[in-house]
Amino acid sequence: MTMTTTTTSCHTCGATFHYEPVLCFGRDLAAHLNKDCPACQARAEKLRREELEEERMQHAYQMLCATLPPDLRATEEEHPEFNRPLWRVVGRWHPSADQRTLGIIGPAARCKTRALALLARRVISGGTRVCWTSAVRLKDAAHDRMSREREISALAREHLRECLTAPWLFLDDLGKNEWTGAFESQLFQILDHRLNHHLPTAWTANDHPESFLPMISQMNASPIIGRLLDRCTVVDLRESGE
Ligand SMILES: [Zn+2]
Repeated sequence: MTMTTTTTSCHTCGATFHYEPVLCFGRDLAAHLNKDCPACQARAEKLRREELEEERMQHAYQMLCATLPPDLRATEEEHPEFNRPLWRVVGRWHPSADQRTLGIIGPAARCKTRALALLARRVISGGTRVCWTSAVRLKDAAHDRMSREREISALAREHLRECLTAPWLFLDDLGKNEWTGAFESQLFQILDHRLNHHLPTAWTANDHPESFLPMISQMNASPIIGRLLDRCTVVDLRESGE
């Protein structure tokens, strides 16, 4: 078969180039359309891809600002005091069928929260929505949801709903909270729902969840500790000395 080509001039740069006419009963149906030469087409396609990428980054940045507290947004990987060995483990973690949860246990000043924030940033930059909370904020929300002030209870319920349903949940500083009935009940519901719906959760705690046993009410202790450790990758900084 012979290929019929014809020449035309580029709509954008004016260069003459060959193109394949769309022939129908001997007439070129595309003759009257504006045509770009292959170089201009490639340039336009590259520009379009760059614009899409820029849009995606803008969107990720807006999500980042809406999600993470300002002091946790900045890049800290290069900081001399940043716990790089911890980040090497946390940064590589991906949820799977038998590892739905990531738990980081360790004393203060070991960059647990930083590493958690970097992981949140990694997830957000992939375009996934995350919910960021702390045990103290969650406890406040668990109590505020019953507030008589409608605005306060609405905000609290919205936050609890996000904790329950967000594609990823980051829960910082377990153990800094008071263990109240309202908090225990919300925490259990959130952890249980997320496991059942295969939604990943990453938490940090100043001590192993089993050490919370005497502080949690008898009714909720085992269910909560069980959910925290169910299919959980535990990174224990107390053992490794990192
Ligand atoms: Zn051109």
